[in-house]
Parts: sequence; structure tokens; C-alpha cells
Amino acid sequence: MIGTTLKTSKSEEIFAAAQKLMPGGVSSPVRAFRSVGGNPIVFDRVQGAYVWDVDGNQYIDYVGSWGPAICGHSHPDVIKALHEALEKGTSFGAPCMLENVLAEMVIDAVPSVEMVRFVNSGTEACMSVLRLMRAFTGREKLIKFEGCYHGHADMFLVKAGSGVATLGLPDSPGVPSSVASNTLTAPFNNLEAVKILFEENPDQIAGVILEPIVGNAGFIPPDAGFLAGLRELTREHKALLVFDEVMTGFRIAYGGVQEKFGITPDLTTLGKVIGGGLPVGAYGGRKDIMAMVAPAGPMYQAGTLSGNPLAMTAGIKTLELLRQPGTYEQLEQITKRLIDGLLQIARDAGHAACGGNISGMFGLFFTEGPVHNFEDAKKSDVNKFKGFHRGMLEQGIYLAPSQFEAGFTSLAHTDADIDRTLEAARTVMGQI
Ligand SMILES: *Cc1c(COP(=O)(O)O)cnc(C)c1O
Repeated sequence: MIGTTLKTSKSEEIFAAAQKLMPGGVSSPVRAFRSVGGNPIVFDRVQGAYVWDVDGNQYIDYVGSWGPAICGHSHPDVIKALHEALEKGTSFGAPCMLENVLAEMVIDAVPSVEMVRFVNSGTEACMSVLRLMRAFTGREKLIKFEGCYHGHADMFLVKAGSGVATLGLPDSPGVPSSVASNTLTAPFNNLEAVKILFEENPDQIAGVILEPIVGNAGFIPPDAGFLAGLRELTREHKALLVFDEVMTGFRIAYGGVQEKFGITPDLTTLGKVIGGGLPVGAYGGRKDIMAMVAPAGPMYQAGTLSGNPLAMTAGIKTLELLRQPGTYEQLEQITKRLIDGLLQIARDAGHAACGGNISGMFGLFFTEGPVHNFEDAKKSDVNKFKGFHRGMLEQGIYLAPSQFEAGFTSLAHTDADIDRTLEAARTVMGQI
């Protein structure tokens, strides 16, 4: 049995109060510990590869605020730039030069993006891009993949990943069936299923949206030829291909999955990393499509705080740090050491395990694998994961509190951090 040596009395107290104030005590369901047991740890501060809770415990962090903290939390350059930007005010509600700077950086980096619109979250980026897909094609239906998460807008809450998958929820009440019926789903990595959907719905499908590397059903990379096959199928049926790179953008490579795999979609959504820890989302793509967006064109989409100067500043600084030579090699090297080590330790302890990484994004399932889609991912022994998560937490390692979430490293994680993590895993894998 895993010990309960961790002192969490302050966390418990704050969370008990939070539960009376906010549904489930959290501002986002993925932060709750429902699927791993116990109560969430309440954070006090974050720095580099580490987080500290309100009881003074320190953890090595593999969540990184769910992705944005790719340079390490509170990077001094980002904090300094934010201090300077703060002196000029917190919000303009008018054009600001910083928007040009970040837009240019995104356009230079991401192959599909010729023009970009900034919003405040990944959810907003995805719901706006869907409106744009429909406006441009004049078609209403959409294909998404089981276990992929594209934020919580109605039309994406069909067989969705992330918290929906973690909590084992059916499609959410409150989503009108008339809306959900326009969302068609296929298993990830299954081109044949997509082909059939196109054949069954001729001239009705606006496009296909996917996480080109899945992170919201656990970590699932695309099979060879899958992305290229989708590119071909969408072209053939005059539908749009949209990569939701909210998680993978500037994480897998500076230009995202589309640069790494050499497949260029028509439109792309971004978030997480481009906000450098502040709330930012973006969507962009071909100029002729983006020209539909108001006020250039008729498709309406707006935002009081969009292009916020503080958020732009954090994004710009973060991308400046990431575009230095060697950053993605460093992320790959450290993350591969971590996941190879974890898999070896799991197998040595007699557990079925599979997983992998691409750059600073990784995942581990307690099943023989291989995992090609959400059905495969669900074969993972979630009870074992629960024991693993709790044990690692006790050892000072903070992992996402769900089997169905990818893990993240940062440029601040050192070999010593990986050593300590693997040492903790040796103890815990032997106990579960
Ligand atoms: C996180 C995420 C979103 C939603 O972004 P929010 O900022 O949480 O609204 C959308 N798509 C993907 C792939 C994500 O990982």
C-alpha cells in the first residue's frame, strides 16, 4: 500500500471551501482528481520545472499548466517583459503593435498560416474556425475523431476527449441534438471510416478537424500516411482540412505538427504555448479563407480582450525563447529519456505498458498496446494509473490527474529532474 506521507491539510481546507463556492471546487474539470482519487493539490507558486503547493510541498511538474509552460514556469525573460508591458496598461481595446509582432511570428512559423486572428482561448479558436469552415464552404457537417478535444463548444462535445473522456461522460446535456447531428465521428488513424463518411454525405461536409497528434485521449501519434491521406480525401471532396494545434503548435516543433510531418492543412487553431501562460488562442490559414472573417468579410467573430497587450507580450517572449537553436532537440532528448525510462521500469515491475513521445509531449498507457485510437487507449488499466498517479504525487512528482491526458516537459527540466522522476517511478511501479 502506498503511504500517505504527504502533508496536504491546507490544500484540503481550501478545496473543501472551494467546493461550496464553485461546481466541483474547480474552474475547469480536468483539475479535479475525480479519476485518480483524493483531492486536488492547491498550488501556491510555480517556477521553472517545479510547482509548490500551499502546504509547502515541492513537485517536479509534468503538466506545465497543460502545455503553455514550455520554457519552464515564470521564465525570467517573460516575467520581465510582462512587467514592462504592465506599465503601459492592461488592456487597450484598440489596435496594438504587439499584435503585428506575434502575428508575423506565427505566420513565419506555421506553414498553413498566411493570416491570423487572435482570440482568448483554444475553445474560442476552434468554435470560430468551425464557423469559418461553414461560411467558406456553405456546408454544415463536420468530421472529428473519437477522443479528440477541440474545446467545449456544442458541436465539438461529441465523443470528445480530455475531461469528457476522463470522467467517462456521455455527450453533454445541453447540446441540442440538431447541433450534434452535424458532427460526424470516426476512429483516429482510420482513413477508411473517413472515406465512408464522405461517401455517405456527398457535398455536405465542410471539413475535417483533428489533433494531428492526439493529446486529449492520452498521447496517440498519427500512423504513417494518415495525415497525408486526410489531406488527399479533403481535397478530393472539396472540404477543408483543419489541424487543431492548440496543444501541438510550437510544442512538437516550432512550426507544429504540420512542419514536422510536412502536411499543410487549410486552417489551423493555436493556443496554449502562443500565450506563454496568459489566455490566448488563434486561428489562421489560407488568405482567401481568412478574408471571410469580419471586418474584411461577412463571417462575424469578435472579442473585447482579444489581442491583449499582456498576452501578446508573453507569447512573443515565449516564441523568441523557443526559436533559439537546439530547443526542440533538447525537449526531444529529455522527454525520450523520461518515457523510455518509465516504460522500462513499468515492464521490469511486470506491468503491461506502452507509450512514447514526440518532442516535449509524452504519454504512457498501462496496456500492451499498440494504441492507435481512443478504443485502444481505453484498454489501459486505469486503476493501475490511479495507483501510479497517487504514488508519484507522494514522491513529489506532479502528473496530469488522468490516464487520458498527455504529459509535458519544458526547457527547464534537467537530467537530474528526470533521474529523480525515474527513481520515484522505480519505487511506485513496485508498489502498484
Ligand atoms: C486545450 C485544447 C483546446 C481548448 O483550449 P482552451 O484554451 O482550454 O479552451 C482545444 N483543442 C486542443 C487540441 C486542446 O488541447
